[in-house]
Amino acid sequence: MPKKRKSRGRHKGGKGKEDIVQCDECGALLPRSKAVKITKPVTPVDPQLAKELRDKGAILPQYTVTKYLCLRCAIHRGIIKIRPEEERKKVKMRFEFF
Ligand SMILES: [Zn+2]
Repeated sequence: MPKKRKSRGRHKGGKGKEDIVQCDECGALLPRSKAVKITKPVTPVDPQLAKELRDKGAILPQYTVTKYLCLRCAIHRGIIKIRPEEERKKVKMRFEFF
């Protein structure tokens, strides 16, 4: 059977069933290997105010937030892009499913 993608859209390999996660944008349930995981640092202070405070030498608290997104939401927000047909066969290091 011809495959659209080498990894069949996931990165679980042959390990069978796996955990289900919920998309943080739309709430859709999807397998963990199919979800897009984003981790970024977040400061609780307003960005403009944070810059002023940093210039004065203040140290602001910073913590990391991890989010899971479904493919539709990740494409809509511009985190991943739709690739042309030949490029889909290549395995990408970070987002293997595309
Ligand atoms: Zn979603």
